[in-house]
Amino acid sequence: MIEPRKAVALISGGLDSLLAARVVMEQGVHVEGINFYTGFCVEGHTHAIRRKDRERPKRNNALWVAEQLGIKLHIVDIIDEYKDIVLNPKYGYGANLNPCLDCKIFMVEKAHEWMTSRGFDFIVTGEVIGQRPKSQRRDTMPVVARDSGAGDRLVRPLCARNLPPTLPEREGWLDRESLHAFSGRSRKPQMALATHFGFEDYAQPAGGCCFLTDRQYSVKLADLWNSRNRREYDLDDIMLLKVGRHLRPRPHFKLIVGREEGENRFLEGYRKRFVHMLPTSHSGPLVLLDGRFTHEDLELAARLTARFSQGRDADRVTVEIVEKDVRQSLDVAPLPADEIPADWYL
Ligand code: SF4
Repeated sequence: MIEPRKAVALISGGLDSLLAARVVMEQGVHVEGINFYTGFCVEGHTHAIRRKDRERPKRNNALWVAEQLGIKLHIVDIIDEYKDIVLNPKYGYGANLNPCLDCKIFMVEKAHEWMTSRGFDFIVTGEVIGQRPKSQRRDTMPVVARDSGAGDRLVRPLCARNLPPTLPEREGWLDRESLHAFSGRSRKPQMALATHFGFEDYAQPAGGCCFLTDRQYSVKLADLWNSRNRREYDLDDIMLLKVGRHLRPRPHFKLIVGREEGENRFLEGYRKRFVHMLPTSHSGPLVLLDGRFTHEDLELAARLTARFSQGRDADRVTVEIVEKDVRQSLDVAPLPADEIPADWYL
């Protein structure tokens, strides 16, 4: 019996990669999925924390896609290696701090290494020409193939007929005529193909697959680098940027204010690492303080904490400040809303 050809499909959890893998499976290819965890992924984390997102399914979409396809999924942690992509993208950023082209190249390169070490034959992605302005253009498609080292073992089944034939097509491992010629930003062809395959409940990522495409998130990340005079981050840094209201009232410190119960609980996990505040005379948010502070700064932070508590209209609010198990209380007047400049909010 002839062994089927083997492909590794990059699975983001969105519709395109689901369809791309399915199209190739249709041709009798053995497909396994690979999903890269960068720390910036949108799914799961914030949806699981915030009450307003409670109705959303708490699923990992990449795992869900693999389940729909009935394939194995390999989840690979690339948090550390990925830093260099975020900090020094050769091709620069998109509209925000999203280094999409470098990111694509890196992921395909990792998939190529994975493929080579396991005796797989080619790589499948859900890219579509013209779908994203930075990373999925006619002129960037060959760049991803070249710079990643994957060359013509990289197949984009959704737009393959708009591109030169790849090795799997030339060798007859894939029938080119059964691949697709999608292009542009319209999602209609993908939705029609999803219906054809019977997929209904798929994820619809709005701007992209990670927080780096989010303007607000990018502002907070840039502020983090600026405040440290260094472009660096660790996993906790990038997790915390996803949660709470961030305010920087002074260049040398900022506050992370829990916006609701779920976020307060999440921030509690960081109490040992940060000086933190909690109103005790009224219910209110847990607030983490990041940076250095004088006594005046602590008082200002306590007044802001009071502002975001149920005591915002009270004359005085008692706020407990905890630093390395040392507790003190401050009795403060909540800071009036009109004394909080808009540029304090990140
Ligand atoms: S949106 Fe994020 S994960 Fe997706 S290609 Fe761009 S940088 Fe990479």
